[in-house]
Amino acid sequence: MKRTSLLFAATMMAAASYAQQPQGDPKATEVYSPVPKVVTPGNSTADAPSDAVVLFDGKNLDQWESVNKPGSPAGWKVADGVMTVDKTTGNIQTKKSFTDYQLHIEWKIPENITGSGQARGNSGVFLASTGPGDDGYEIQVLDCYNNSTYVNGQTGSIYKQSIPLANACKKPGEWQVYDIIWTAPRFNSDGTLKSAAYVTVIHNGVLLQNHTELKGKTVYIGTPQYKAHGPAPIKLQAHGDKSEPISFRNIWVREL
Ligand code: MG
Repeated sequence: MKRTSLLFAATMMAAASYAQQPQGDPKATEVYSPVPKVVTPGNSTADAPSDAVVLFDGKNLDQWESVNKPGSPAGWKVADGVMTVDKTTGNIQTKKSFTDYQLHIEWKIPENITGSGQARGNSGVFLASTGPGDDGYEIQVLDCYNNSTYVNGQTGSIYKQSIPLANACKKPGEWQVYDIIWTAPRFNSDGTLKSAAYVTVIHNGVLLQNHTELKGKTVYIGTPQYKAHGPAPIKLQAHGDKSEPISFRNIWVREL
């Protein structure tokens, strides 16, 4: 192509792109309210942000109670900034009830863990539990580092409902993190479901559940169903298997 032709082509292209510029006022699509509130983040993801309700800061179980004996102290052990499951005293739950929230919780499978399948470091985070016998909606905690089980029961599954998108388990003995975003179900006044629950689960920075819709409450046998409830505690599982008890630390929640 001759130089004059190249110049002509370039001029025509410039004219064409000018003609394609959108017309109108860009400010028409700029939104200025409501202004998102300022929240000071922690120095690391381990530190609770400024508006969090701290559920466990390593000192005591003041924010928790026994599930089997509501109003009685949670019987798990606290030492060295860590709480450890006591299988003899059963599940524990928050004294406070919640609806929608963002939850941060760290957990550790003991380095000397034994067992296999579901009997290897089994615990769980029950996102809304209304008392003894109600497992609410369980995000499974389990050692799935070189340990296989049914995939809708592995680490980060919505137990028996939703397979996680990945296996992000660290080795036993290393601390692991769940960041969970929970949208509670809503119910009509006659008890029927108005809107389903949704959950997002990030495990060690890896997305496992992406705004997953829940089919109902967790059940061990049968199919999940919804049963009307309001704000509810967060419950942690003392599973009855024989493997060594797991530990938790640094638990906080931001109500949404
Ligand atoms: Mg469990």
